[in-house]
Amino acid sequence: MAKSIHFELSFSEPQAHYVDVLMIVQGFENEEYIDIKMPVWAPGSYLVREYSKNVERLTAKDNLGSSIKTQKISKNTWRVFHPSENLTISYSVYGFEISVRTSFIDDSRAYLSPVGTFMYVEKHLDLEATVKIHLYETWNKVSTGLQKVSVDNIFHAPNFDILFDSPIEIGNQDTWSFDVDGILHECAMVGEADYNKDQLTEDITKIVREENKIWGTNPNDYYLIVTHNYQNGSGGLEHLNSTILAASRFSYSQPTSYKNYLSLVAHEYFHLWHVKRLRPNELGPFDYENENYTTGLWIIEGFTSYYDNLIIRRCGFYDEIEYLQKLAVDFNTVYNRPGYLLQSAAASSFDTWIKQYRPDENSHNVAISYYNKGAMHAVALDLKIIASTAGKKRLDDILKAAYEHFYLIQNRGFEEDEFLALAEEVTGVALGDIFAAAYTAEDIDYNKYFNLVGYELIDNAEDQDHQSLGIKIGSNEGHTIIKNVDRDSAAWRAGLNVGDELIAINGHRIEINGRVFDYFLSKSKENDIVNILISRDGLIREISVTLIPSNKKSFSIQRLATATAEQRRLGDIWLSLNSI
Ligand SMILES: [Zn+2]
Repeated sequence: MAKSIHFELSFSEPQAHYVDVLMIVQGFENEEYIDIKMPVWAPGSYLVREYSKNVERLTAKDNLGSSIKTQKISKNTWRVFHPSENLTISYSVYGFEISVRTSFIDDSRAYLSPVGTFMYVEKHLDLEATVKIHLYETWNKVSTGLQKVSVDNIFHAPNFDILFDSPIEIGNQDTWSFDVDGILHECAMVGEADYNKDQLTEDITKIVREENKIWGTNPNDYYLIVTHNYQNGSGGLEHLNSTILAASRFSYSQPTSYKNYLSLVAHEYFHLWHVKRLRPNELGPFDYENENYTTGLWIIEGFTSYYDNLIIRRCGFYDEIEYLQKLAVDFNTVYNRPGYLLQSAAASSFDTWIKQYRPDENSHNVAISYYNKGAMHAVALDLKIIASTAGKKRLDDILKAAYEHFYLIQNRGFEEDEFLALAEEVTGVALGDIFAAAYTAEDIDYNKYFNLVGYELIDNAEDQDHQSLGIKIGSNEGHTIIKNVDRDSAAWRAGLNVGDELIAINGHRIEINGRVFDYFLSKSKENDIVNILISRDGLIREISVTLIPSNKKSFSIQRLATATAEQRRLGDIWLSLNSI
């Protein structure tokens, strides 16, 4: 009998957050046993999440309905002994974590993260799978990138990599579709929100056209955008022909938050090429059971972070000042984390499993984000290429060529040195210095590149001389608590700790809003000593802190007053609006 796998999903207790899964496996009757496994992580979200922790009541039955012996042999592996021709494995999965990469089920809807729902037979990720979805009585539709093969909600995946890359939304979501350049796009809005369908259709169409232009071809004939609307929602996760976004319910009618949403759409849509298809070798085919280490997220996520806002600019949603403010955020985010002196963009990529996705109170002192730092490298590359080619080439040309060369022609991932070699060949510009900088924490002189196109990066806080303790405070049950301490700050040197409750400064009671604090700091000079009364683990003590000037940065990117006509021409090319 040919090997095949069929799933049936049903919802007997959605109000208690369960999906019931039947996994019908055929063609393994000659094996002594098979091991079935659930992935431990979701591609695109680099953290071992242990999806199998939510699996319960797993049983197996043969053709006649008799029980078959199963044994759990690892955290995510069940061994099924002497499988019959037609083996039915059943289990239930609990889903009650709101995020774009974890399942959430209640009586109104189900969002199923495929890696946390479906299991695979070890060594058989290449098998096709069909999925039949039985709707709960009050639900009326399924939204997924999987191919629908029957009106009664049967879907098909040519292999498990595609199944695991196809999340499923089930319920009463508001859906509408539209065509862009011959590709059917569908939006599915989950939850009440103040969106305007016509406006979204028009604006997403612009974004898609802009991105199609960069990449030359679009490999999909269908693309699904699912948005989960919450009181406070943010973030997204990319897939081959779909994306799952989270947004705040009332963000669509307010211009700033609406543009942020459009930028998120642009970001995740960009990934359909850049990461889902053009990717470092390590990011596919995936090992679903272990961390997949790569130094290349600065190229994948960093470049995408550069392009998301740039595309919003090219579409005309941001004016020049708004765009430059958005770009400056990357510089401020990196340079206000003391960890930028320690961690390179490549190291940030490699350690994302234990750092970026597992932040703690000391993270800002030891790590930066490859999203921000990668975007900074991307703008340096773009500007250097524009300036060195008199505006004839730019970073777009590298991406398009790399997509064609590595994905379309060779159908494989890339090594970073191959990517660099291709980039230099396509542009004729030496880019090794900027690539090398991604592997060290040493800084690039970004103004070298901004100046080439008539702009400059200015630290507006540079000349300010106010004193700082170098701590971040928050409140907890009416107490003022230290949330983090900056490396080498006054507080760091004096030994103030995260978790210390701040009670008084120089004999004055500290208020939650920090006014007294600000008052004493504003009156102080470098090397003044302030006495801070704290409570640590219930014990009161006084700590003397010698003040040093704040090293906080406040960057903006502005037109260079002395720019030549040629620099201005190149700058106009950099930030040009592309007519569609
Ligand atoms: Zn991304």
